[in-house]
Amino acid sequence: MRTELEALKAERLALLDELETTYKQLEEALSTKNYETEITYQELRKRNQELQQRLAELQETQHMLVHSERLSAMGQMAAAIVHEINNPLTVLSGRVQMLLARERLEYRDELMHIREATRKLAEMTRNILRFARRKRLDQVALALDLNPLIEEMLNFFLPLMKKIEFRTDLAPVLPQVWGNAAQIEQVMTNLMVNAADALEEQPERGLLVSTGMGSLAGILATEQKRGWETRFALPVQEGDLHRDRVFASVADNGPGIGAENMDQLFEAFFTTKGADKGTGLGLAICRSIAENLQGNILVASKVGEGTIFRLVLQLADDLVRR
Ligand code: ADP
Repeated sequence: MRTELEALKAERLALLDELETTYKQLEEALSTKNYETEITYQELRKRNQELQQRLAELQETQHMLVHSERLSAMGQMAAAIVHEINNPLTVLSGRVQMLLARERLEYRDELMHIREATRKLAEMTRNILRFARRKRLDQVALALDLNPLIEEMLNFFLPLMKKIEFRTDLAPVLPQVWGNAAQIEQVMTNLMVNAADALEEQPERGLLVSTGMGSLAGILATEQKRGWETRFALPVQEGDLHRDRVFASVADNGPGIGAENMDQLFEAFFTTKGADKGTGLGLAICRSIAENLQGNILVASKVGEGTIFRLVLQLADDLVRR
């Protein structure tokens, strides 16, 4: 990751140099006006535009890398803290077991409570460790079961969701999807953090995580019927609208998203949050992950009612057969 970043930085510097040179050449060309320089001018202009575009692309990639590096650093820190907590926790639960094994019964209830609390703590630390170890995103997609993955992610997430009425509705039977566990977790985590942010100022805070299957056309029709705006993160072919897809969704009853913002949601650096809170990269990263998995993200929202983001995944069978 670091060497990738270094290489990107070097390329950016070289591009900036080249940009400066082309600007100088442009100015020179402009000051001596004749037919020949007119041609050079057009060429330079074109090259200059290409360079600017490449620079913008590079900047986006660099920001994404910095972001995932930061995530991985957070993962490492969480793992280190959990290790520190684990030792005293083991001692504590050992001592409680010892006391429980002795014959004096007057503190039995209290001790049982302590044992239950240490058991919960131990489970939480295990979840955090499992989550933190997935810090590197390997790019390999394969056939996997969505529900257990979502359940595992929620085990980690639920204790952090304060003052939110949280519900899940996982489809009892789902075909395998084409995906990568760490990447799906990253998208769902981003969507849940965004939903929690959107709910911050709301008197009633409801968040629903669900999975299901159906066609995009069916979902679009349902959303239109209830008057919600919809947008896709990535272009969709007409034929794809009628194929079955599996969804992992995050819905909230927050303030919703105004029509003026719906088109920009997945752009890098688009944020309506304060500078200390939002980077505007979350949904841009979700979009490139969805692209990597040959999936999509469908957002539906209505101001004053709420928002639902659906991660759209392909059925593993469909891709294997193709
Ligand atoms: P960030 O969270 O850093 O702002 P994102 O790319 O994740 O960046 O989100 C971009 C913007 O999309 C947010 O600033 C917010 O305006 C809007 N948004 C995302 N999710 C929701 C949601 N559930 N409800 C309302 N607005 C949302």
